[in-house]
Amino acid sequence: MRGILTIVLVVVATIALAWWAAGLTGTVGATIAGYTIQTTTPVALLALVVIVLVLHVMLRLFFGMLSFPSRMAAWRARSRRLAGDRASTRTLVAIAAGDAPTARTEAARARRLLGDTAQTLLHAAEAARLSGNDEEATILFRLLSEREDSSFLGLRGLFRQAMARQDWPEAAALAHRAEALAPGNNWLRSERSELAVRTGNWQQALALAGPQSPKSAFAVAAAQAEPDVERAIRLAGRALKDSPDFIPAALVYATKLRESGRESRAQAMLRDSWKRQPHPEIAALYLAETIDAKQRQKEGGKLAAANPGHPESLFLIARLALAAGDVAEARRLAEAARNAGMNQQRLYKLFGDIDGTDKKGDVTTPMTRGDALRLAMSAEADAGWRCDACGSPQPAWMAVCPACHTPGRIAWSNQPGQTLLTSS
Ligand SMILES: [Zn+2]
Repeated sequence: MRGILTIVLVVVATIALAWWAAGLTGTVGATIAGYTIQTTTPVALLALVVIVLVLHVMLRLFFGMLSFPSRMAAWRARSRRLAGDRASTRTLVAIAAGDAPTARTEAARARRLLGDTAQTLLHAAEAARLSGNDEEATILFRLLSEREDSSFLGLRGLFRQAMARQDWPEAAALAHRAEALAPGNNWLRSERSELAVRTGNWQQALALAGPQSPKSAFAVAAAQAEPDVERAIRLAGRALKDSPDFIPAALVYATKLRESGRESRAQAMLRDSWKRQPHPEIAALYLAETIDAKQRQKEGGKLAAANPGHPESLFLIARLALAAGDVAEARRLAEAARNAGMNQQRLYKLFGDIDGTDKKGDVTTPMTRGDALRLAMSAEADAGWRCDACGSPQPAWMAVCPACHTPGRIAWSNQPGQTLLTSS
């Protein structure tokens, strides 16, 4: 509406001006190079307007021709940029779809059209990685890392490659360089934590642990690896404070107390742990320094007294009584363990050993070796350390499963997926 109004006003003004010019009287004359031109004022004005318009058109054409090559170059550059942007988008779509051949073709096209920018180099590197061409990806990530605007991206790509081929020293050096570029970066923190776990650098794994990380497991592993006994005790104490029922924490804490010469404190700590959660490895550590069978029976009794009536306590002192030659007591205690709910294969093995040890052939024996073997067939499997992420059994507790590399998932259980104790 506003445009129409403007056009109407311009037309009206032009007509008014022409009408005014047509009404002008007099003549205009000019002599140029001996030629004299004389005409009326309206015609002279019209001629002036025509001359100005013709000059204007001619000048525009002249300058248009002068700038033609540069305008053509700008148009071509714009077309290349648009085509390059489209190729970049197609590269991203192909990478997301896992289509390596298309990703490589489109990434090469984008690079040809747009040149080596941070974006085209990154897309080409990711496309090379997707197609399994690690050498080409490495070259491209290196090019990225040498550019000021994309150094972090290049280092990130090189770091991921080093982690994938388990080149830990190279990964650590790259992480160090990336950390200098972007201190406190969340992605880098998580990757450095993973690197620390994979290289067994437990103190660093603990320092970089996030809210979901198994901190107690890292603290126990750090305490196990720490040569300075006082520092190891502090690390174990930290794990135990976070997870009081975590058996590996109790074991390493007591071991380090013993190493530092605080034997009575180590034993008190193990008795306390037995009270909380009886576990065969607590008993093994408690009795590790006692050789004599009678003495072991006596010491084992002290430990069991911390949690009397528990099947694990009854089983422990039954086993120690048998080793000390007290067969009748061993049988009584094994029966008590069974009555308290223990139904594992190791209990029936103990019954078999008791029967085998009893040379007198006591007719009142409640369970013969044959009975024990038969019952063992249908009994629960003995518990052991097992990864509850992949189900693989392990000979000892470890901070990271050696089979699936998951941290903090080795737990005490008697079958896959069934955890008897918390892992951290
Ligand atoms: Zn596992």
